[in-house]
Amino acid sequence: MKYKVPYINLPLSFSNDQAELLNIFIDVCSNGRFILRQEVDEFESAIANFVGVRHAIGLNSGTDALFLGLKALGIGKGDEVITVAHTFVATIAAIVHCGATPVLVDIREDDFTMDSAKFAEAITPRTKAVLPVHLNGRVCQMNKIREIAHRHNLLIIEDAAQAMGSRYNDLMAGAIGNCGCFSFHPMKTLSCLGDGGLLTTNDDKLASSVRLLRNHGQKNKQNITEYGFNSRLDNLQAAVLLSKLQQLPKLLARRRFIAEKYSKGLSQTPLLDLPLPPAEGIYWDTYNSFVIKTPKRDALQKDLTKAGIETFVHWNPSLTCHTGLKISSYTLPVTDRISQQVLSLPIFPEMTEKQIDYVITRIIRFFDKEPV
Ligand SMILES: *Cc1c(COP(=O)(O)O)cnc(C)c1O
Repeated sequence: MKYKVPYINLPLSFSNDQAELLNIFIDVCSNGRFILRQEVDEFESAIANFVGVRHAIGLNSGTDALFLGLKALGIGKGDEVITVAHTFVATIAAIVHCGATPVLVDIREDDFTMDSAKFAEAITPRTKAVLPVHLNGRVCQMNKIREIAHRHNLLIIEDAAQAMGSRYNDLMAGAIGNCGCFSFHPMKTLSCLGDGGLLTTNDDKLASSVRLLRNHGQKNKQNITEYGFNSRLDNLQAAVLLSKLQQLPKLLARRRFIAEKYSKGLSQTPLLDLPLPPAEGIYWDTYNSFVIKTPKRDALQKDLTKAGIETFVHWNPSLTCHTGLKISSYTLPVTDRISQQVLSLPIFPEMTEKQIDYVITRIIRFFDKEPV
């Protein structure tokens, strides 16, 4: 189906950047620079600078950034890692694949991120780390989470897959905990042409450990120090990301503009909760997704689809409902309720004013017809 307003528009994004991307392709390919070459180094320096950390290590996905980060921090069998269930399954999978036990806590009603009180309650003598997820480009309440983690001597691994460029007070997502884990999947704000990921850290030892793990434990060809993995960011993707990073401030500003327009346009709608308004100087949200909440979610989504507007539900049913994941024993009332009510609206930098207005109009029209 061809949507009047797609959720995102990757073909359009490509055609806007086509000349530049083709030049990159020709340059990298004609010089045969494919694996861990200069573009990976350059991109790592540029992004470390952008996030404000000492080290950035390019990896093949956000999932691997989480997995290798946990592993390099020594997390394994017998350890508990506290995180949320209102996230993409990769967050929890990374913990499980390290041999550790995920401990799931509920989320805040207003921005769907980790409830720090619930985090504090879930700590046991086996707890090694906390894994907050900066969902939808909004950083978690890190002052509280950090204070609790420090008091209990816990490591902090930030799932910043959706939060490139987001800030909390003076800190960028990915520069707050022991490490930050980013994804460059095409659905994320800074994206490549396929899969890619990154780990950020200020910890020299962690950085060298992840560098080894991503490249089969090879310090160099003469010295293999351990069994590692193949989790390198492709040099071609790094070259693309290096170019896209230049545009990132502009792209984020555009996302924030669209979010503001949505928020203004929909502020009077009954039965509809919007993302929290900007809290000047505290939160700087980047709206990887613009998520509204309504008890009429399913009917609204159906109505918008009929109007040619593509939306997504992130996520329903909640992860605890998938019995194969073996986390069904958790009871997370806020997570469950939110899963029934959230809807992600189209948001992408190329979105036109007309498209934004059309989405607003259709949502208002839907609620005008609905008996309250
Ligand atoms: C996308 C995402 C991941 C995984 O990233 P990939 O690059 O797809 O492996 C992890 N956590 C969250 C919250 C995500 O949105």
